[in-house]
Amino acid sequence: MPRTPHGPLTAITDTIDDRTLAKNVHFAPDSGHILLFGQRMLLMHGASVATLRHELVERLGLERTRELFTRIGYQQGVDDARCLREAEGGDLTRTLALGPRLREIEGFVRNQAVERMQFNTDSGEFWGDYYWQASWEAEAHLKHFGISGSPACWMMTGYASGFTTTMMGRPILWRELECVAMGHARCRVIGRPLEECEDSADDLSFLRIEDFVSAPRGRHAPVDTAATASLPDLVGASAGFNAVAHLIRRVAPTDATVLLLGESGVGKERFSKTLHAIGPRAKGPFVGVNCAAIPAELVEAELFGVERGAFTGAHASRPGKFERAHGGTLFLDEISSLPMPAQGKLLRALQEGEVERVGDTRVRPVDVRIVAAANRDLRAEVAAGRFREDLFFRLNVFPIEIPPLRERREDIPLMLNVFVERYAKRFGKHIAGLTQRAAEALWAYDWPGNVRELENIVERAVILADDGGNLDVQHLFSGGERLTQPMFNLSAGGRLTRAAETTTSPSDAPSDGVDAHIASLVDAGLRFDELEQRLLDHAMTRTGGNLSAAARLLGLRRGQFEYRAKKREAGSA
Ligand SMILES: [Zn+2]
Repeated sequence: MPRTPHGPLTAITDTIDDRTLAKNVHFAPDSGHILLFGQRMLLMHGASVATLRHELVERLGLERTRELFTRIGYQQGVDDARCLREAEGGDLTRTLALGPRLREIEGFVRNQAVERMQFNTDSGEFWGDYYWQASWEAEAHLKHFGISGSPACWMMTGYASGFTTTMMGRPILWRELECVAMGHARCRVIGRPLEECEDSADDLSFLRIEDFVSAPRGRHAPVDTAATASLPDLVGASAGFNAVAHLIRRVAPTDATVLLLGESGVGKERFSKTLHAIGPRAKGPFVGVNCAAIPAELVEAELFGVERGAFTGAHASRPGKFERAHGGTLFLDEISSLPMPAQGKLLRALQEGEVERVGDTRVRPVDVRIVAAANRDLRAEVAAGRFREDLFFRLNVFPIEIPPLRERREDIPLMLNVFVERYAKRFGKHIAGLTQRAAEALWAYDWPGNVRELENIVERAVILADDGGNLDVQHLFSGGERLTQPMFNLSAGGRLTRAAETTTSPSDAPSDGVDAHIASLVDAGLRFDELEQRLLDHAMTRTGGNLSAAARLLGLRRGQFEYRAKKREAGSA
């Protein structure tokens, strides 16, 4: 759905200074390297890549090869954009213009603008319209397959999407309207913001985990919406994300125990739900337990169930999580927190496939697939004698390491888009987009709390931002996060300039009265959770302890208010 423009569009420059690119290409034959912005490049035979592409189509089918090549192209575009920005700064009128030129120098295509790329960083608008002449990929496709019914410049459109998405900090999708492989005289591509593209699901399938983990491939079976509706934020294009998705797809159809490893907040529970949803147990229950959240003395009753009269307070018999997960998947989060006696019982349950309720002598057979997750280095826990070695080996059948967000920054714009949409909808707000310096700050931030932190930051930013306005640095980083990396400023002329000395703190952002107040709180070292607590307390005092009224005062629903208050209690416990 086309949007009314929020402001004037800036066009990229039409005079390209090749020296920028020339000085960043190095042939170093003595060491056997070719470098472009420090990345290793290969001067390969185009015909051999074309053969590889052909063989992949033969073996994997057209759809999967298209996804694969689009993803590879996307990754190339992300890498080039990142290098260009690091080398050249954030002047988008220039760096965006260098993209098409770079592709020409790399030997893929000749670009001819129908309409040069234009953008407005405040409103998020983007527009580009190009002819592609002599596309390498169209030639390769024609040679092997003849005239096709659909466009074939997969790697090329993937590249354009990855490049402009990274530059703009939000998803931009490029599509071919015409393609030499379809019999047209030249290819023609158009780039638009993702949200304005109709039927984008198909173009995006190369980025979505549920698509490329679902089998069988090659036909457009409707995606199981029940299974995927809760997982839209599992998106990514980074090598790290792809590796994880690949392993999940491999192991899902089996019954093997899976061990998910990774820092707090990387999304281990989401991945385990995906694993369950695409596996043969999808129709069975998914039961999650956070081992760190249960008091040590209750762990066994919780996991294995309890028989009436087993201990004081056990007035009724009840099944444990194992029995509840019968026929499905049991997700054991923070497995390293499990006390020793419970570890022994868990090992037995895994070996024997049966459980014994606390206070009972009967054994009950259980058919459960185990997915365990750990933050800490489990091997170190074993070495320290805090975790049973035999249990470790039992769980470590198929370990999958999920990389932290700072190692897959190229996924940030994609996830951001999902979260902004989610919270804008939840809070009934329209968010126009993201300022360019906010995009820069998101890229530069270290993300100690990973995906969960990104989601929290977006939720808070959507609350703070004006309806119809943009998310800016002061909305996103209002919780005392430390922005240690250099950032960019937007000058009056729309130029981005490096401004490390003035923008290391978001409190330097332009302020109205509230912002100024918040800035002083931040400078005083008040942390977000303290601020949140004081807001909650203050609202309660103001309303004489009336929960609903207090929630209304802060623009929250009662449930949201309670959730936050509870979260605080749990956090301080
Ligand atoms: Zn083409």
